[in-house]
Amino acid sequence: MLFKEIIGHSELKQRFINDTREGKVSHAHLLLGDLGYGGLPLTLAFVQYLMCENRQETDSCGTCSSCNKMEKMQHPDVHFSFPTVQAETKTSDVQFPLWKSLVKENPYLSLNEWILKSDDKGRAPIISVHQSVEIIKKLTLKSFEGGYKVSVIWLAEEMNDACSNKLLKIIEEPPNNTVFILIAASEEKILPTILSRTQITKVKQLNDAEMMEFLQKRSISQDLAESISSRSEGSISLALELLEAGGAENTNFTRFVNLMRFSYSKDVMSMMKWAEEIGAIGREEQKHFIKYSLYMIRQSLMQNYTQGKLMRTSTKETEFLSKFARFITGNNVKEFTKLFDESHYYVERNANSKILFTNITFEVMRYIRRA
Ligand SMILES: [Zn+2]
Repeated sequence: MLFKEIIGHSELKQRFINDTREGKVSHAHLLLGDLGYGGLPLTLAFVQYLMCENRQETDSCGTCSSCNKMEKMQHPDVHFSFPTVQAETKTSDVQFPLWKSLVKENPYLSLNEWILKSDDKGRAPIISVHQSVEIIKKLTLKSFEGGYKVSVIWLAEEMNDACSNKLLKIIEEPPNNTVFILIAASEEKILPTILSRTQITKVKQLNDAEMMEFLQKRSISQDLAESISSRSEGSISLALELLEAGGAENTNFTRFVNLMRFSYSKDVMSMMKWAEEIGAIGREEQKHFIKYSLYMIRQSLMQNYTQGKLMRTSTKETEFLSKFARFITGNNVKEFTKLFDESHYYVERNANSKILFTNITFEVMRYIRRA
């Protein structure tokens, strides 16, 4: 992966480039931040630069044999570890082809997606002591190409204590030209002894302009791009999840507007039809709609209390909320929030969708008049 293919993080890229050019690469890194911010793509570009035979001033050459191997994720001196379901396989190697193909498709891969794609029973994967034995074995071998040897640990917080303890010594005193890159979403589960041995780099969330840069490359409407950008909390993984949940248009916006409009005007026939339609879509999509509704309720309050100054919505949403927000006040916001929170809970537990969404329309009808 090339640095220029990665959205945002210009300072971080520059630092990796400078450190490499000045021969000051730390032997153990920890990149910390939601995986959707880009810890893994940054690592892939950094390692490619480190290994490149013809480094340019601002990026890898992209054409040397080392770059080719990195693009295919099959460089013999770069080793990847990631969590696996121990009942299936105790080390990462067996599942490497699958993991690699998912990462190539989407380097912003999330833990949830990895679980979904790698284990049909949805069991929690970990990195165990068997994998640390594997890492040590690979790093003590001589480098194949005579340069750096790199060990990347994706989701390092999933290493159990036995694994972490086994790695302490080699992380502290690695063989020559060895670089560890640990990628983690949170530091809470990582042993302090590991933290103290790594150079910690915070991978920051992407800003609105960067999210838009990513979303505008997709064939979706401008309004949906703006809406997703404001809901995705600077995470490409979350943006992709929201993209997958709807079509090219902001369907949830239309659903939300209709729900409010039909319920406000007590148009029972339309309310029933609305509930029937949303009752027929998939549960994941229903959950996205409910989360979207919670977001719109929150944004309505923002509109009321900050005159729209702190709102993060698309043009169409802003326009709608400028008229709608007055229906959400201190008199009903708790009820609305509870209604959608509980509905989310019931969808997850496979409640009857039609009854559930019919109930939502009638509750909205009651609450909206209390504003
Ligand atoms: Zn190269």
